Amino acid sequence: MTTMNIDYLIIGQGISGTLLSRALMKAGKKVIVVDDGNVTTSSKVASGVINPVTGKRLVRTWMIDELLPFARNIYGEMEMELGVPLISQCNILDFHASRDAAQAFSGKLPDEMEYLRQVREEGTWQEYFRFNYGIGEIDSCLLLDIGTMLRWWRDQLLIKDALVWNRFEIAGCVIEEGSVRYNDITAQKIIFCDGPACIENPLFNKLPWSKDKGEALIAEIPGLPATNIYKQGINIVPWHNGQFWIGATHDWKYTDLQPTPAFRKRAEELLNYWLKLPYKIVGHIVAQRPVNMDRKPFVGLHPAMPSVGIFNGMGTKGCSVAPYFAAQFAQHLINGTSLLPDVDVKRFTKILTR
Ligand SMILES: Cc1cc2nc3c(=O)[nH]c(=O)nc-3n(C[C@H](O)[C@H](O)[C@H](O)COP(=O)(O)OP(=O)(O)OC[C@H]3O[C@@H](n4cnc5c(N)ncnc54)[C@H](O)[C@@H]3O)c2cc1C
Repeated sequence: MTTMNIDYLIIGQGISGTLLSRALMKAGKKVIVVDDGNVTTSSKVASGVINPVTGKRLVRTWMIDELLPFARNIYGEMEMELGVPLISQCNILDFHASRDAAQAFSGKLPDEMEYLRQVREEGTWQEYFRFNYGIGEIDSCLLLDIGTMLRWWRDQLLIKDALVWNRFEIAGCVIEEGSVRYNDITAQKIIFCDGPACIENPLFNKLPWSKDKGEALIAEIPGLPATNIYKQGINIVPWHNGQFWIGATHDWKYTDLQPTPAFRKRAEELLNYWLKLPYKIVGHIVAQRPVNMDRKPFVGLHPAMPSVGIFNGMGTKGCSVAPYFAAQFAQHLINGTSLLPDVDVKRFTKILTR
C-alpha cells in the first residue's frame, strides 16, 4: 500500500472543517478532509444567521465588531470563487411581543445606535403579521447560504482529490509525537472538526461539552417577502427554493435526536396567531449543536499531543465565529502565531492532561 504524505488530516466538513481546510489549502498546505456525509448535522440544519445583537436583553454578541466584517469578507471571497450568492444582508424585524419587550428595545436604542433602530413604517407589515407593540430592527445582520457553501466546498475537495467520503474511526488511527497515520495517509497533524461527535472522542471528551438539541420547521409561505428575518418568539428566516426556515429550540435534556411533535405544535400555534398569510409545513429538521459550557470555541493543539488539534465548540454561532478563528488557527499552525487565550484549548490543559 503506498502512503500518502500530507500536512493536515481534517475530520469533518461542517462549517468548521470547510473554513479551516480552505484556509490551510489557500496557504499551500496539503490537506485531506474526511466526512461521513451525515445529513442531520448542525451545519446542515442551521439557518445561517449572523446577528450582532442577541437575546431578550439585546446584548452585543461576543467580539462581533471583529467577527462580522471578517465573516463578510471570507464568505464574500468564497462567493466570488463560486460565482453564486452565498451571503447577503438580511436584517431582523423584531415584532415586540409585549409592551415590556417594546420598552426594553427602546431602552437599548441610545446605546446600540449602530445595530438597533425602530421601524417607522410599520403599516407595511400589517398585511403579513398580527402585532400590537411595534417593530424594532436589528441592522447589519447577515444571512449565509450554508448548504450551498458546504456542497460547493465538498466538490472543490473532490476535484483536488482531498476528500475521503467515509466515516473516520479513531481506533484505526495511530498517533505519534510528530505524525498521525490513518489507513494509507500519514499526516503531520490531525484536526478534529467533527462537531458534537467529538463529545465521544477519547482525546477530547473531558472538555466541558454541553448538550443542545435544536429543531426547526421548513415551510412554504407564498407572498411573504424574503427580504428580512422575522422574529416574535420564533424566527422566520428565508431558506432555499423560496421556502422559509422557522425555529429554533434549545433543549438541554434530550435523550434522542428525533423531531418532536411538541415543537411542531407550539410553532404552529405561534404562527397561527402571528402570521396572517397561509403557510404549509414541508419539513421538520433537527440537530445537536457543538456547545461548550464557557461558550467559547475550542481551538488549538492538544496540550499533551502536539500532532492532534481541535477546531470545534462553535455553539450557536458557527457562522460568525468559525471564519475568524479558522484564519487564526491556520496562521498558528503554519507560522506559530498565538491564538486568542479565550479560545485556545490550552485553557483546559489541566483536565486534558489528567
Ligand atoms: C437548529 C439550529 C439552528 C442554528 N442556527 C444557527 C445560525 O443561524 N447561525 C449560526 O451561526 N449558527 C447556527 N447554529 C449553530 C451552527 O450550526 C454550529 O455552530 C455549526 O454548524 C457547527 O459546525 P461544525 O462544523 O463545528 O460542526 P458540524 O456541523 O456538526 O459538522 C461536523 C462534521 O463532521 C462530520 N463527522 C462527525 N463525526 C465524523 C466521523 N467520525 N467521521 C467522518 N465525519 C464525521 C459530520 O458529518 C459533519 O459533517 C444552529 C444550530 C442548530 C442546530
